[in-house]
Amino acid sequence: MVRRGDFKLRHLVNAFVFISVITTLSVSIAISYHNEKKSLIRMTFELNKIYADKVAETVDGLFLGLKQGLKVTGAYLQKDLNRPDMFEQLELFRHNHSSLNTVTLVNRAGIITQTSPYNKDLIGKKIGPDIDKLFIQQRPIISEPYFTTTNYLSVSIIQPLFNEYGEFIGALGGTIHLHETNMFNTILGDKMRGEDGSYFFVVSSEGTLIYHPEPSRIGEKVVENPVVAHLLEGKSGVQRLTNTKGVDMLASFTYMKESRWGIVAQTPANIVLKATRQLVMQVLIVVIPILLAFMLVIYTLIRKMSEPLVRLANYAAKLSTNNLEHEEPPRIHSWMYEANKLHKAFSLAVSHLRTEFDDLSHDAQTDPLTGLYNRRTLELFMTNLFSQEKRFSILVLDIDNFKHVNDSYGHEFGDNMLQFLAESLQKSLGKSGVCFRYGGEEFVILLPGTSLQSALTRAEMLRKTLEETAGPGGKHITVSIGVASFPETTSVTDKLFGLADKALYQAKSLGRNRVELAKKEPTLDC
Ligand code: GH3
Ligand code: MG
Ligand code: MG
Repeated sequence: MVRRGDFKLRHLVNAFVFISVITTLSVSIAISYHNEKKSLIRMTFELNKIYADKVAETVDGLFLGLKQGLKVTGAYLQKDLNRPDMFEQLELFRHNHSSLNTVTLVNRAGIITQTSPYNKDLIGKKIGPDIDKLFIQQRPIISEPYFTTTNYLSVSIIQPLFNEYGEFIGALGGTIHLHETNMFNTILGDKMRGEDGSYFFVVSSEGTLIYHPEPSRIGEKVVENPVVAHLLEGKSGVQRLTNTKGVDMLASFTYMKESRWGIVAQTPANIVLKATRQLVMQVLIVVIPILLAFMLVIYTLIRKMSEPLVRLANYAAKLSTNNLEHEEPPRIHSWMYEANKLHKAFSLAVSHLRTEFDDLSHDAQTDPLTGLYNRRTLELFMTNLFSQEKRFSILVLDIDNFKHVNDSYGHEFGDNMLQFLAESLQKSLGKSGVCFRYGGEEFVILLPGTSLQSALTRAEMLRKTLEETAGPGGKHITVSIGVASFPETTSVTDKLFGLADKALYQAKSLGRNRVELAKKEPTLDC
């Protein structure tokens, strides 16, 4: 049997639980994904920034050391630029500063007067027009990277030299070949790319790539890169950006004070997002089986909780269709207080209802004075007998001169007499017939399976018994009876009672205290 209540209640609650769990799970995953992503991005920025800061600090330190060295040596050499051991002095200085590839001395006109290592091709050559600037600046400068005639990407640190009167007399310069073996190349030119796709690059103060994992890009201007633009303004920081190749990057950048270079350390954002997704997947793998187990427990609990209510609901549904009037309410063993209370209330209500129903149906079927079935019940009985088409007889009785009894002894006495008559009739009939109070002092007896002749004998017997039996107060009453049978008197159901009643009036008119047979209806085929 399909238990509709069961389906509705249990599935509704289960659906509710399922939706709640899925919603909570989705929201938590979305939040944890978002938070995880945010924290991984922040961490990547921080790690890249630490790296960029560290490298910048080291490179700045190297430049500072070189500047200091040039300053000290310059101060010593500027006392006499024509000293005979000038070459040895320059050699000594170069060897003390392993980052320097060449050391050069120029006079106030910008003509190279000595080099270390010695290069006769350079001696006597004039260096660029930049030498004039040294008059104004009076402090060491670091040049923009440039390619030497021998095609080395190089940078020069130049210390101006002055005489005792503070006049510019020349300059001492140190040159670093950026991609040759030296400290700069060790720090900047090695391990530029990490395993996770991170890499760094270095730009000059004019936005030219000096160090980059792709050697072919060295010398390329990348000023349109937003991070490089910040570096050119002397700023440091972090930024998410799309690089020149259209890749989404998490970049940290640091400006180097001494050289005015900038270092950018960056990681593709996709790497970080992939890591976040993997983390969420791992969480799901752990959480989903736990959730499934949890939902199974909830499902079982709901099933247990709803069972007693469902049984009560099914019972109520049966009651309402009047199918099982006498079925007892189901026994339920629930640990739910409410279900037990409901069951008790339900059982009480059903037993009340049943008593009320029985009382009402008894009242509707019987006559209150005599306790006999009433006229309405007679009609039901007759309809039933007709529908079965079984033979039966009907006796219609009326007390003779009952008005006189009432008039002589009072209405209450008359009632007692009616009760006496009812009892007498039932007693005489036993189980052979059913007695009805038709109305007033008129009674009807149905004799199922009894022929007209037997009914006549029975009626006569009843009449005689009554005549001979003393009623209340020793008083006697007599009755007149009309007798008819189905189908002997008539097979037309609507006429049977009328014919018996006619016979009764025949008995009355023939003097009362007698039995008369109803006249047979002529059958159609006669
Ligand atoms: P008959 O039938 O022999 O022709 O004469 P009757 O005096 O019996 O006349 P009828 O049937 O016309 O009168 C019936 C009387 O029965 C009238 C009424 O006062 C009385 N009666 C009807 N119902 C009751 C009842 O419930 N209690 C009492 N005490 N009397 C009733
Ligand atoms: Mg009457
Ligand atoms: Mg009468």
